[in-house]
Amino acid sequence: MALMINEDCTACDACEPVCPNTAITAARPIYLIDPMKCTECVGAEDEPQCRLACPSDCIVQNPDFAETQDELMEKYRQLHA
Ligand code: SF4
Repeated sequence: MALMINEDCTACDACEPVCPNTAITAARPIYLIDPMKCTECVGAEDEPQCRLACPSDCIVQNPDFAETQDELMEKYRQLHA
């Protein structure tokens, strides 16, 4: 399941540099996660790096993108092929 950034985002820029898939875009009023690129860090890290970096705890599951671990891994492979 891809992640998404909710309205509590303060556009602090902590998350964008840590994404291994360049899925995060700086935007106003809140940053955006491209669900076609977010793998929840599957394939790259043990846990979502943006969530670790976010001081506002505003990065949550995107309910529109239910994916299995295998699907997230396949997405990661395709992104980095
Ligand atoms: Fe990027 Fe990982 Fe956050 Fe998804 S969970 S947006 S891949 S840092």
